[in-house]
Amino acid sequence: MAKHPEKEFLEKLLITPSPTGYEKEGVKVWKQYVDQFADEVVTDAYGSCAAKINMSGDVATVMLEAHCDEIGMVVQHITDKGLVYVNKLGGSDSTIARAKRVIIHNKKGKVAGVTGNTAIHLQNKKNGGGKQPAWKDIWVDIGVSSKEEALELVQVGDPITFASDLEYLNDEILSARALDNRIGGYIIAEAIRRLSKKKNELKVNVIALNSVQEEVGGFGARMMSYRFMPDVALVTDVTHATDTPGIDQKEHGTVELGEGPTVQHGGANHPRVVAFLEDVCEKDEIDIQHEATSVRTGTDTDSIFYQQTGIPSALISLPLRYMHSPVEICNLKDVEELINIMVQFVLSLEPDQTFSVFDD
Ligand SMILES: [Zn+2]
Repeated sequence: MAKHPEKEFLEKLLITPSPTGYEKEGVKVWKQYVDQFADEVVTDAYGSCAAKINMSGDVATVMLEAHCDEIGMVVQHITDKGLVYVNKLGGSDSTIARAKRVIIHNKKGKVAGVTGNTAIHLQNKKNGGGKQPAWKDIWVDIGVSSKEEALELVQVGDPITFASDLEYLNDEILSARALDNRIGGYIIAEAIRRLSKKKNELKVNVIALNSVQEEVGGFGARMMSYRFMPDVALVTDVTHATDTPGIDQKEHGTVELGEGPTVQHGGANHPRVVAFLEDVCEKDEIDIQHEATSVRTGTDTDSIFYQQTGIPSALISLPLRYMHSPVEICNLKDVEELINIMVQFVLSLEPDQTFSVFDD
């Protein structure tokens, strides 16, 4: 039996590398999917992509947003022996970077390599044995023996991603590299696809925005929000599930995998949009969890809410274990609920919808 096209899209999106600043291949997969049902698809110079449903008349506009980039590494230095030293791209973790298969991406294509790991038998204090490595300690072996040979294949500045694939641990649990936040790209694409089939119930314009460069500062979202100035924005990204050993829930809150998406409170999250979102979930009996935003959400919401005269925004997040690792884990039940919430939220908006803290 043929796979569901949605599932095929999800898997293609997840295995396509989209390192921050070099997201083109990932965005192409996303664009190809939304092109099938959006009224209009808009891209910008840096590579963010927006799918739109345009209603007739002067009605409010809602924007659904997720970032399309993933963390990675970058070629920093090439030694005389052809070893490729790297640095991080976004918030990558050097302590898990050794002994992995990686792909270096450049104009010529893909170069396979492995991050070196000194055998346990040969480790000592001098070569860093038993110590957590910093980025300056991580090198990629691309199977050559000189700088000249290496330069035939790679150059300083080429982005690098882990070569990991995806795996269903069971019907509900999916593990993949950088679910953060390609899974969000899937969620907003699915939300707008389903909304495109419900145009008779829809009263507002819809934009689904897949933004570049979140992992280095939320820049893509900033450019596109400034352009569109929607009346309300609903952002989705991953959040830390805190239900594995070693995480202090007193410090980080209680978020469990499979217990529903989380609604964030405070900071960039507009209280009226949050209340509206909570009402939608209550009416549809969708389980949600709650998180407090201390200072910043650490997502594109922080970039969107203060554009121009302000965009009332809320963040709804997907619980994720092992964030910023090649084996991130999410629950597909939470994914489906998040899509549902987005669809119901949009369908509940009125043509003249506004949000103000002075509304009662
Ligand atoms: Zn993210």
